[in-house]
Amino acid sequence: AIHVSDLHKSFGKNEVLKGIDFHVDPGQVVCVIGPSGSGKSTLLRCVNRLEEPSSGQILVEGIDITDPETDLDDVRTRIGMVFQQFNLFPHMTVLQNLCIAQRTVKRRSKKQAIEIARANLEKVGLAEKESAYPAHLSGGQQQRVAIARALSMDPDMMLFDEPTSALDPELVGDVLEIMKQLAAEGMTMMVVTHEMGFAREVGDKLVFMDGGVIVEEGDPRVVLADPKHERTKAFLAKVL
Ligand code: ATP
Ligand code: MG
Repeated sequence: AIHVSDLHKSFGKNEVLKGIDFHVDPGQVVCVIGPSGSGKSTLLRCVNRLEEPSSGQILVEGIDITDPETDLDDVRTRIGMVFQQFNLFPHMTVLQNLCIAQRTVKRRSKKQAIEIARANLEKVGLAEKESAYPAHLSGGQQQRVAIARALSMDPDMMLFDEPTSALDPELVGDVLEIMKQLAAEGMTMMVVTHEMGFAREVGDKLVFMDGGVIVEEGDPRVVLADPKHERTKAFLAKVL
């Protein structure tokens, strides 16, 4: 679970998050939408402490990750993160990409790391690509590898930042299908996305951000069909 209260984040004089309150319950899928620059990525990056919040509190599985005493490496192993750019290591094979953090962070044996890696490649439908290099895979395949890599760390929850935005349209469906499967298995997920169909079908909650605040949140089916706020209406009119 994630609990965020009164989260503020500034870059210099630019206040990007202006008091964010929300929570993600265990097994929930929360989708975050909003215009460019509204602070969606910054919010996600604060949740796994790639960014340091300026003030406020973030509890991940009950652990206050804004507390300076907290072991951030431990927190980050609990949270899988998938980015728009897949960030695979180009000089490593798919299997090596999946094993490296298991070996160095989780201290798993080579045999165990490979076993877990293969199980996760199977899961994303890429078992036969374990010896390939990222450059020889399609964008959709690379993103599925990135998801398998994150899953190989046995995270309690997964954060996705526009995971399909860099993909050719015909490759988007495969990645969304994997995410849908993960959701069905009960993974706790926070997903920044422009895929309103995914939000409607898979999301338990939809959060609309604008200008560093949450303008509106609720059941995705309700928010998408009947937005309450003018800013939500204006945004949805552009993207739907
Ligand atoms: P997009 O939909 O384009 O990805 P976003 O909602 O994810 O947008 P953020 O990336 O969170 O928006 O950025 C919000 C604001 O914070 C922007 O004005 C951006 O310029 C600023 N910002 C983000 N990261 C930094 C940084 N590391 N240093 C300075 N400013 C930053
Ligand atoms: Mg972003």
